[in-house]
Amino acid sequence: METKIYDSIIIGAGPAGLGAALYTSRDRLSTLIIEKFFPGGQINNTDRIENYPGYETISGPGLIEKMVNQVNSFGAEMKMGSEVTSLKRLDDGTIEITCDEDVYLGKSVILSPGSSYRKLGVPGEDEFRNAGAGVSYCGTCDAPFFRDRKVVSVGGGNTAVEEALHLAKFASHVTIIHRRQEFRATPVLTEELMEKVNAADSNISLQLDSVVTAIEGEGKVQSVHVKNVQTGAEEDITCDGAFIFIGMVPNTHFLDGFVELTETGFIKCDHSYLRTAVPGVFAAGDCRDGAAMQLATAVADGVVAAMMLKQYLRDPEWWHKPAEDALTPGQW
Ligand SMILES: Cc1cc2nc3c(=O)[nH]c(=O)nc-3n(C[C@H](O)[C@H](O)[C@H](O)COP(=O)(O)OP(=O)(O)OC[C@H]3O[C@@H](n4cnc5c(N)ncnc54)[C@H](O)[C@@H]3O)c2cc1C
Repeated sequence: METKIYDSIIIGAGPAGLGAALYTSRDRLSTLIIEKFFPGGQINNTDRIENYPGYETISGPGLIEKMVNQVNSFGAEMKMGSEVTSLKRLDDGTIEITCDEDVYLGKSVILSPGSSYRKLGVPGEDEFRNAGAGVSYCGTCDAPFFRDRKVVSVGGGNTAVEEALHLAKFASHVTIIHRRQEFRATPVLTEELMEKVNAADSNISLQLDSVVTAIEGEGKVQSVHVKNVQTGAEEDITCDGAFIFIGMVPNTHFLDGFVELTETGFIKCDHSYLRTAVPGVFAAGDCRDGAAMQLATAVADGVVAAMMLKQYLRDPEWWHKPAEDALTPGQW
C-alpha cells in the first residue's frame, strides 16, 4: 500500500501545534499532528490562565480540551504517544518523518516541539511546582498571584531582570538571588534595575554571589535556603514564592543537522513567515529563535505558519523570496 502524503504534518500538540492544526484542517488540508505524550504541552501544567484573550480565567487542561475538540471537528488526525526522532527532505521535496517505528510523509511540516524551563534541580523545586504551591518559571504568567507577598527571583540574565522588575509591581518584596556579582542582562536593563534597587522606597534587594540549595515549606513555599559561593555562608530567606529564571531548553535535539539551530538550540527561522532553512518546513512557538514564550504568541505562531504553508503549497518558489518580497495573505 502506498504511504499517504499529508499536506501538512505538525510536530508537537502544544498551543502552537494546535493553533496551526485548526487552520490547516479547517482549510481542508490533510493534517497529521504527532505528539510524544498527550495534547497540551507546557500549558497543561497550570490551573489558572488569566492572559489568554477571551477567557478571564481558565485552566490549562480546560483550554486544551476546547482546542483539541475544535481541531478534531475539522478532521485533523492525531497520533499521540509518538516521539519524532528524525526528519529528512526527499529529492521530490517531500519531508519524511520518523517516529519510534513509523514513517510519515508530508508536503510541508510545522515544527512546534516547544521548550522546557531550565530547573535549579534542588530539593523542593518539583514538589512545589507540581502542586502549584509557589514555584514558578514565568513572572508574566504568575506575578499577579503574588500581590503583596514576598518572593525571590533567581537568575541574572535579561529575562530574569525583566521578570524581577515585573514581579516588583505586584509583590511586597522581591529578593533577587544571582550566583555572580555582575548581571548578564544588557546594561540598559541592569541600570533600570539598580535605579529601582537604590530608590528610597525600593521593594527589591539583591543577594549576589549566592545560589539556592533548597526550597522549603509546609505544603507551600515558605523559604529558600541559599549559600554564598564566595564565603560558604548559608541562610534562609522567608518568602511565599520562588520564581526561577535561569533559561529555557528547547526540545530540538532531534532536529540537529536537519534545520539550523542557534547556539542555544532554538530553531532559526525568518521572523516574518517562520520559514526555516529547509523548504516546506516552518517553526512555530517556544521552539523558535525570538519567541515571546507565551500561550497567545505560540498559538499566533501556529496560525502564521499555517497561513504561510498554504502559500508554499500553492507556489513552492515563494519559499526562496526574501521576506520583504514575499506576498502576504492580504496581497494574494
Ligand atoms: C507552569 C506553566 C504556566 C504557564 N502559564 C502561562 C500563562 O498563564 N500564560 C501564558 O501566556 N503562558 C504560560 N505559560 C507558557 C506557555 O505554556 C508556553 O508559552 C506555550 O505552551 C508554548 O507552546 P508551544 O506549543 O510552543 O510548546 P509546548 O507547550 O512546549 O508544546 C510542545 C509539544 O511538543 C511535544 N514534543 C516535543 N518534542 C517532540 C517530539 N520529538 N515528537 C513529538 N512531540 C514532541 C511536547 O510533548 C509538547 O506537547 C506557562 C508555562 C508553564 C510551564
